[in-house]
Amino acid sequence: MATLGVPRIGRRRELKFALESYWSGTSSEADLIDTARKLRAASWIEQRDRGITRIPSNDFSFYDHVLDTAVMVGAIPAGYGWHGGDVPLKTYFAMARGSQGDIGSDCGHPGHHHHGVTALEMTKWFDTNYHYMVPELAADQAFALSSTKPIDHFLEARALGIHTRPVILGPVTFLKLAKSHTDGFDPVALLPRLLPVYEELLQKLAAAGADWVQIDEPALVLDLTASQRDAFKLAYERLAAAGPRLLLATYFGALGDNLGVALSLPVAGLHLDLVRAPEQLAAVVDQARNDLFLSLGIIDGRNIWRADLPAIVDRIAPFVERRGAGLIEIAPSCSLLHVPIDLELEVALDGDLRTWLAFATQKMGELAVLGKALSEGKSTVVAELRAASDAIAARRASLKVHDPLVEGRIAGIGEAMKKRTSDFGSRSRLQAAKLALPAFPTTTIGSFPQTPDVRKARSSHAKGELSYIDYEGFLKKETEAAIRWQEEIGLDVLVHGEFERNDMVQYFGEQLSGFAFTQHAWVQSYGSRYVRPPIIFGDVSRPRPMTVAWWRYAQSLTGRPVKGMLTGPVTILNWSFVRDDIPRAATCRQIALAIRDEVADLESAGAAMIQIDEAALREGLPLRKADWKTYLDWAVESFRLCSTGVADATQIHTHMCYSEFNDIIDAIAAMDADVISIETSRSKMELLDAFKTYKYPNEIGPGVYDIHSPRVPEIGEMTELLTLARKRLSDRQLWVNPDCGLKTRKWEEVRPALVNMVSAAKELRAAA
Ligand code: GLN
Ligand code: ZN
Repeated sequence: MATLGVPRIGRRRELKFALESYWSGTSSEADLIDTARKLRAASWIEQRDRGITRIPSNDFSFYDHVLDTAVMVGAIPAGYGWHGGDVPLKTYFAMARGSQGDIGSDCGHPGHHHHGVTALEMTKWFDTNYHYMVPELAADQAFALSSTKPIDHFLEARALGIHTRPVILGPVTFLKLAKSHTDGFDPVALLPRLLPVYEELLQKLAAAGADWVQIDEPALVLDLTASQRDAFKLAYERLAAAGPRLLLATYFGALGDNLGVALSLPVAGLHLDLVRAPEQLAAVVDQARNDLFLSLGIIDGRNIWRADLPAIVDRIAPFVERRGAGLIEIAPSCSLLHVPIDLELEVALDGDLRTWLAFATQKMGELAVLGKALSEGKSTVVAELRAASDAIAARRASLKVHDPLVEGRIAGIGEAMKKRTSDFGSRSRLQAAKLALPAFPTTTIGSFPQTPDVRKARSSHAKGELSYIDYEGFLKKETEAAIRWQEEIGLDVLVHGEFERNDMVQYFGEQLSGFAFTQHAWVQSYGSRYVRPPIIFGDVSRPRPMTVAWWRYAQSLTGRPVKGMLTGPVTILNWSFVRDDIPRAATCRQIALAIRDEVADLESAGAAMIQIDEAALREGLPLRKADWKTYLDWAVESFRLCSTGVADATQIHTHMCYSEFNDIIDAIAAMDADVISIETSRSKMELLDAFKTYKYPNEIGPGVYDIHSPRVPEIGEMTELLTLARKRLSDRQLWVNPDCGLKTRKWEEVRPALVNMVSAAKELRAAA
């Protein structure tokens, strides 16, 4: 029984609090290191006690395991002030978060601004809601082993009496996830330069006593070019000889057309994701070398449902028998990083629902039961197997899951419900007349800083210490202050600030039927940002309006338009744990109808603009291109279903983050939002090329301000970005806004940044 990696954040989010207190200067580097060490120890011991026999190390990270890998191989771009040797934590966090301070200020690099450095780009880790820092590699990149973390952590566990299997990100996936500023250069070409670093590391791990190393190559489930496939051969022919036995871990999908390559590599073991791709087991067992050790990923590492243990035993047992138990281990499909830690903490959850779930800790228990059933026979775990199948039967039959009214509404969806009355040209004339906005209108994406006061009020209210009346009064004051301030600095289109929202998905999930929410089920989104994804367990409907009262209040304070602010169905779906008993598309359509009702109510209340965020539309893309069309068809249909029930003069906005649009621009256009805001500041407006080439007709707000970093952009930086945008789009299309919502920032950062942003728009207007 193995795990490939476990959550690193701590049962009570200890890592987040330690990081934030270190960043704010409240605690020392030594405190942070100490907290991290305790978290690792607790998690190793927990795994051992739950019956996991192959326990990973080096799955822990202060911020991100891809960033750790970049640091480990010495891939630190010029500008972070690093000149070899061990990489200081300060440099590490500057790469993660940017820096306003001393780092970078004396680098003398022309590309860097005087006030610190920007963070590395961040993007989705495969099709998860985890974000990694994109390594930046030069075409002549040099590598050198620059961190001993994998070895240190191995030894740290050994000192506790736990023999671990270190996890490292494989060199090909690392390079494939990296980017280079040289056009047309595939970083995978750097493999021959990188391999010596991996060899050195593996030798050192072997010398420290590691007999097995798990080397993650999830890129093997992607579409690969011939030279990328060859790269795997080159890599593993060398690394397999470096010392420890290698378990090549693939996950998030089927090996598919890369199966042959994977099986040809001289590695000792191979891990397969048999949740996403159960069918590959038979092929692998047929074709694999006789001595290839197989790690079977049979427990879902991406979702929270209790597994049908008897069914898994029946399915797996014949293969175990054929191959011999010594050549097989069972494991979660992927790292448990993507699920919450422990269901035991959820004391307030509906009793039935609780029996249907398994979080990371429970999944370890499931593995232990499966292991026993497979090695000693089903009769040794009769009660455990019966409990699992009873829970599944109960869930299937539950009235909490099935709502005939929802099923009826879905059946009644017609084509007319999926399009606007008129085309964009006619709509935009009506909207322009109604809204009378200046050129280059300024706005923000929705949220304003969730200050300690806001969080404190929310948690006091949740604990029952602050009455609803007082909580509401507090939120009204915050909202009013935000509206006043936006008017004062001259923003054209206002937002209410989202102070009442804990999270853009959870807030809606809590108000929709068919959703359950948790108290402690946090999952890392990036760095110290964690989310508690709602659990969609049943048919979805909207019992009552969710956002209208807050919008109405905000609009009552000002003559300027305030955007109604919603999260779209695809994003709600992609950021939730979803049902595994009906297709994702079916759940998405149900959510779309619920949002459609909300859009109608906002419009009736008088909202002239309604923004429906689809931050996660792109990340929902299947990993293989061949599967894209099916997904995009239902995703776009869901967006249209929720957004097209309005009058022509009502302006529909949408927002998307961290997205590359080249390959999905048709789908973006098909969504037909009147205005789309996107994240572009870190990519120097390159993302707009897709819109230009497509001749995208609707309006666009390309982000001019990187909200992931605390640094305040200067007016000149933003006019520069806008100038780049104007080369690609016509002036009538352009809006001016930050990359994303500002909830993670501080007012001290947001205030000057938005003042500068408004000035940048004014400079443009004056010059145009
Ligand atoms: N309206 C949301 C906000 O501003 C959008 C956030 C997002 O796209 N991630 O917070
Ligand atoms: Zn965003």
